[in-house]
Amino acid sequence: MNMMTLRQLMDTFPTNEACKQYLVDRRWPDGVKCPRCGNPKVYALKFKPFHWACGICCKKPRQPYRFSVTVGTIFENTNYPLKTWFEVLWQILNSKKGVSANQIMRQIGSSYPTAWYMCHRLRGCMYDPDFRKLMGIVEVDETGIGGKDKNRHWDKKQHVTGLSGKATVIGAISRKGNVVCQMIENTDAATLDRFVRRAVNEKVDLVATDEALGYEHLTGFGYKHKRVRHSVGEYVRGEVHTNNIENFWSLLKRGIVGTFHHVSKKYLPLYLAEFQYRHNNRNNPDIFGNTIAGC
Ligand SMILES: [Zn+2]
Repeated sequence: MNMMTLRQLMDTFPTNEACKQYLVDRRWPDGVKCPRCGNPKVYALKFKPFHWACGICCKKPRQPYRFSVTVGTIFENTNYPLKTWFEVLWQILNSKKGVSANQIMRQIGSSYPTAWYMCHRLRGCMYDPDFRKLMGIVEVDETGIGGKDKNRHWDKKQHVTGLSGKATVIGAISRKGNVVCQMIENTDAATLDRFVRRAVNEKVDLVATDEALGYEHLTGFGYKHKRVRHSVGEYVRGEVHTNNIENFWSLLKRGIVGTFHHVSKKYLPLYLAEFQYRHNNRNNPDIFGNTIAGC
């Protein structure tokens, strides 16, 4: 990844003003617009830097709507300066296995809840609902995350649902391309089909899966589908294998087990968004700026 180093980040953004100017440039590359009505003819407030007023959005006559550079972003109404947010974002984008709130807390000298909050807000910016359907050779697989119920004492079993109960995640990865993953409630054929049809273009060269029964309808939906039979020790048959999605799972699990130690089902989608985002932007030299623009 050709992203700047932490040193370069500090040099590029030595002050909060520099961060604010960067946010202006990335948020409104064609000039500042009113975030409420889109009016481009806003005027800057003379004595309040990085604040503007819109003459169209008036609550009362002669009371134009005023807004700042952070209005409507995740940076609005926080006590932490943009400089700190930028630093936390840089850490998340640069840590293959993610970065824990504990580590952020030590680094920025905040409380644990603040570090946790910042990390989660930034993860929230990494959702990509408008992804393009995967093409080429696509591997599809599911995996279980968390929940070591069998290691728990019998009376603790099932008492932790919603906290660390096992969750199932399904993913599709295009070789040398993007990954799409999400949490699913069960692994029945309808659920698996729905995911594949949402994530994978019907014109792909091949969908490779293991022999899980849920995938047996894919050919009926027009997909060219082949499977490897893990149950008989077959892991690769020519171009048919699921090695890439399995590598993605192992990175995700090392992150969740090694970095975060414990992820609740409730927040798992945020971590999935983070890992997916880092993977899909691994060759994007402007990942930092693109992320800031979407905050
Ligand atoms: Zn307006």
